[in-house]
Amino acid sequence: MGEHRDDGQTRAGRHAFPGDRSMTAPAQVDVCIIGAGLAGLRAAGRLSEGGRSICVLEARDRVGGRTMGGELCGEPVDLGGQWVGPTQHRVLALCAELGLELYPQYAEGLRLLDIGGRLRRYRGTVPRMSLLAALDAGRAVRGLNRAAATIDPAAPWLAAGAADLDRMTLDQWLRRTLFTRDGRRVLDIMTRAIFTCEAHEISLLAALTTIAGAGSLEVQAEVQGDGAQKLKIRGGAFQLAARLADRLPPGALVLQAPVHAVEPSETGVTVRHAGGEIRAGRVIVALAPALAARIDFGAALPPLRQQLHSRMPMGSVIKALVAYERPFWRARGWSGEVVSDRGPFGPVMDATPPGSPHGFLVGFFDGGHSRALSGAPMDLRRAAAVKALQRYFGPEAATPIGYVDKDWIAEPWSLGGYAGFTAPGTLTTCGPALRLPCGRIHWSGTETATRWIGYLDGALEAGERAAAEVMASPA
Ligand SMILES: Cc1cc2nc3c(=O)[nH]c(=O)nc-3n(C[C@H](O)[C@H](O)[C@H](O)COP(=O)(O)OP(=O)(O)OC[C@H]3O[C@@H](n4cnc5c(N)ncnc54)[C@H](O)[C@@H]3O)c2cc1C
Repeated sequence: MGEHRDDGQTRAGRHAFPGDRSMTAPAQVDVCIIGAGLAGLRAAGRLSEGGRSICVLEARDRVGGRTMGGELCGEPVDLGGQWVGPTQHRVLALCAELGLELYPQYAEGLRLLDIGGRLRRYRGTVPRMSLLAALDAGRAVRGLNRAAATIDPAAPWLAAGAADLDRMTLDQWLRRTLFTRDGRRVLDIMTRAIFTCEAHEISLLAALTTIAGAGSLEVQAEVQGDGAQKLKIRGGAFQLAARLADRLPPGALVLQAPVHAVEPSETGVTVRHAGGEIRAGRVIVALAPALAARIDFGAALPPLRQQLHSRMPMGSVIKALVAYERPFWRARGWSGEVVSDRGPFGPVMDATPPGSPHGFLVGFFDGGHSRALSGAPMDLRRAAAVKALQRYFGPEAATPIGYVDKDWIAEPWSLGGYAGFTAPGTLTTCGPALRLPCGRIHWSGTETATRWIGYLDGALEAGERAAAEVMASPA
């Protein structure tokens, strides 16, 4: 089986969403929703159920945004958001409602830790490092959890000492707290894997807010227990968006309709898109702030909201799947899970589809590693991934039968992933503008969530909250 290229037009995506939607937007609706990711589609569904006429305008030729289907060796795969955790109640409920089955992430056997140029195998959650480094890393994780517990993720700017926490990067705090090199390396790996940025790029307050929204750093990092990587959706998480879109009334979703301007007036809002314009009573902008920045709101936005658009960069990530004839790591008693400080490919996990004769691994180029390879030919990334996998798993990893990846940084309608984050000084100044409606303009997208910020679950929360806001507002 040769290499499979993906350009956003995957077969799996097409099957999931046949593209038989009307391409003509209605002239007038109660609510126009910009963006057909999970947040926008959730908001649209709720408003439609509530009796509002709606139109969703989506820039791409597919729904799902940061979730996306691909194909590898004839199997559907997720090139974007994928895992679901046991405390992500919204996405769990949606799966149940849509009849989508969940199954556990394969996690049997030894895990691999590649730090400081040494490969170590371990079982359970604690990597086999020197006792001192393990204690050091554990102390830092507990410190972050303790600080996060003092923060209300819905209003982190009100936390005690918020200004001090927001003045500092996560890196500054880690440097101050950790005293072993390996402990520091472990926390750097966790930062890249969870926030898809380097520790020196994100404000400490922003990192703590995300941790608070998830419950703890371990819950964000783990496959086991209540870990956010515990479960997967059979057939792929990209089905969620396709199924939500299928439930919308005919003509309510217009693809290939990037919005370039939003003009509110006393009586409504005019939304200008590639195919024309729509008049709406209200508009929901279901995008990350960095994407909202590409829309011209004229003078409609207060300064702090405008600033937020230029002060929330997207994380940096490329997701890749590598197929092998057999899941040879399982036969050796390895789970397939690897974390590495050297990278550039990692974390890695088993991604073998249930019932497949082949073995799949999924991994990430994240943070600085992804920026070094974004925009490069896919062959180069494939070679980098395979080289790293050989280092982790030995010579059997040298001969994959398939490879597919998605460079999210290069996606003009995402600009990166998993999510937007804030650098120091942003949350305590512009943060209160994150969800605050600007007249007839309402804000959604996973970045506006208060639980599971940056995750699928957060996107659903954000959609539901924006829809409720609109329902409670005058027409
Ligand atoms: C590689 C990767 C892996 C991830 N893994 C996980 C995971 O395992 N578990 C998890 O919970 N989360 C994961 N996430 C995060 C999760 O996918 C996102 O939080 C979620 O999908 C965001 O949904 P959203 O609706 O808020 O935004 P989006 O999905 O970004 O939706 C916004 C939509 O707006 C459209 N758009 C943009 N600009 C315009 C415009 N001007 N006009 C019209 N439309 C526009 C976009 O095309 C897009 O469809 C991952 C993300 C990535 C990238």
